[in-house]
Amino acid sequence: MIKYNLKCDRNHNFEAWFKNSSAFDEQVEKNVVTCAICGSNNVEKALMAPSVPKKGSSRDTTAASVQTNDVQQFETVLKALKELKKNVESNCDYVGTNFAEEARKIHYGETEKRGIYGEASESEKAELIEEGVEIATIPWLPNSDA
Ligand SMILES: [Zn+2]
Repeated sequence: MIKYNLKCDRNHNFEAWFKNSSAFDEQVEKNVVTCAICGSNNVEKALMAPSVPKKGSSRDTTAASVQTNDVQQFETVLKALKELKKNVESNCDYVGTNFAEEARKIHYGETEKRGIYGEASESEKAELIEEGVEIATIPWLPNSDA
């Protein structure tokens, strides 16, 4: 698994996981990589930003903080989130509430390096970020085809 910082043509920055770099190229070519914020499929790799632990802030810079009153925009976001969720589900291991523990093991090389997803409390997330473990928070949609 490899994580890329991506940028869309509207300058939204977001992160996405890919099996490997050629999987990324392939998906971009097929236009299936979409912006997590606006759903645009015109995305490219952004420069890797150093991850700076934010003190005293529990809000993530990912799509979780997106707010919009525009219904159409909202639906686009929703669609992008569904895609994102599908992507995560098919490419990452679900570890449930063991997320923090597993993420740490992967970070310190105690277990196989892979993409995982699961649940973590705000304080667990803050701790992981403090330790330099790379994580991303995404709004998780309930299972439904509606
Ligand atoms: Zn965008």
